[in-house]
Amino acid sequence: MKHKIWLHSYQPTVSITKKVLIIGAGLAGCSAAYAMAKRGWIVDILDKASAPATGASSNQQAILTVKPSNAQPLIQQLWSVGQAYTQQVLHAICGESIGEDWDWPGVLHLHPDDKMTLTAYKQSHDHISNPLKTENESDQDLSTAIYSGGWVNLSRFCNQLLQHQNITFKGSLDIISIDRINQNWQLKTSNQAVFSTTALIIANSYLASQLFANLKWPSQVMRGQISYVPETQQSATWKMILQGRHYLTPAFKHWHSVGATNQLGDYSLLERASDHETNWFHLLSDAPELAQALMLSNQSKPSMMTGWVGLRSVTPDKLPIIGPVVNTDIFCKQYARLQYDANAQFEALPVYLPQCYVTIGHGFRGLTTAPLGGEYIAAALNGETSMLPELLLQSMHPSRFLARCLIRRTLNA
Ligand SMILES: Cc1cc2nc3c(=O)[nH]c(=O)nc-3n(C[C@H](O)[C@H](O)[C@H](O)COP(=O)(O)OP(=O)(O)OC[C@H]3O[C@@H](n4cnc5c(N)ncnc54)[C@H](O)[C@@H]3O)c2cc1C
Repeated sequence: MKHKIWLHSYQPTVSITKKVLIIGAGLAGCSAAYAMAKRGWIVDILDKASAPATGASSNQQAILTVKPSNAQPLIQQLWSVGQAYTQQVLHAICGESIGEDWDWPGVLHLHPDDKMTLTAYKQSHDHISNPLKTENESDQDLSTAIYSGGWVNLSRFCNQLLQHQNITFKGSLDIISIDRINQNWQLKTSNQAVFSTTALIIANSYLASQLFANLKWPSQVMRGQISYVPETQQSATWKMILQGRHYLTPAFKHWHSVGATNQLGDYSLLERASDHETNWFHLLSDAPELAQALMLSNQSKPSMMTGWVGLRSVTPDKLPIIGPVVNTDIFCKQYARLQYDANAQFEALPVYLPQCYVTIGHGFRGLTTAPLGGEYIAAALNGETSMLPELLLQSMHPSRFLARCLIRRTLNA
């Protein structure tokens, strides 16, 4: 097998100061802050918004589940480990508020061609709520599957992660530049404030590559809209999550979430009636009787719905970008031969920027990947060996796109 030395694990040097600065207080930044603070580090987390979790991480019911798919075993492994780790953190910091900030009712996964009926959905619910119930014939007939999973109020989760006494949140600070000055990272904000730090974590999602051109990763935005549907007397009792082409959550504060849409390269945060139509159409085709029951009781029309819009940061290979940031100039010189020979082998290890990490590109699965990413980065900055397999780390490595650019000759070395 080809040895990709440019994705080689970083051998960290442990900081004496044990202080870190994080840019971006969404799920990625808050997860990293929590993992660093647990290790005794002093954390400053900066965001351009006045409060944490106002971007993609303000979804009130994000889903955490490992969907059956044809994904590569490595990716499935990442999702399984990620889900288990997030659950562990949820229990540790939101254990008291299960049912309020998060819940773990199970997910009913529909195959795209199944025609799900309201009766079948209710039968599955009965089965989940009473595990001793013997499976009856109609249960076995269900061409659906129930998986472990739940929903999380992301904004509440992020705020809980920041509760640690070692963490200080600093809002209304729009970072406009990152420079290396006198052995430190120096950050400047749009209102002329300056911050200096030895250890830096970049967690500002799709805006990271604008801020730090050194990353050289293909930045893409995937807009998404969720529709809120009022509960009915009957739907208020539904506990499980329904996952088809789109998902339907159990009611939270009397509203179900149905979503979400996907628009690549669209930066608009304005709600659109056409997106509510799309969400409704997908629910109707996944679970017609259920959708109709909701619609009839509410006499609601998609055009009258309200909802929520967020911008995901996505990568071409659908994996997040988590790990140490390389020195791009040296990298391009060291591995320039890749431009002519994609199989070229090298001996020199990459040169990393001192104590600089990134955690972005969490796409559709921030709940699965961001807490694990924060834990991995915190362990590395703290000089610990990662518990994650090397191949998994390489699949998320920030330099993978840089090497691809060299191979495809889309970058001047
Ligand atoms: C419609 C929709 C539905 C989703 N559903 C799910 C789901 O069901 N399950 C799931 O796991 N995931 C879901 N996701 C994805 C999940 O929400 C994201 O993966 C996750 O929130 C990403 O977190 P983040 O911290 O990377 O980004 P964000 O939450 O966007 O945080 C980035 C932060 O950086 C700040 N920032 C940016 N630039 C600067 C700067 N220059 N200076 C200072 N601060 C800056 C921003 O203000 C923001 O607070 C969904 C996303 C959307 C949009």
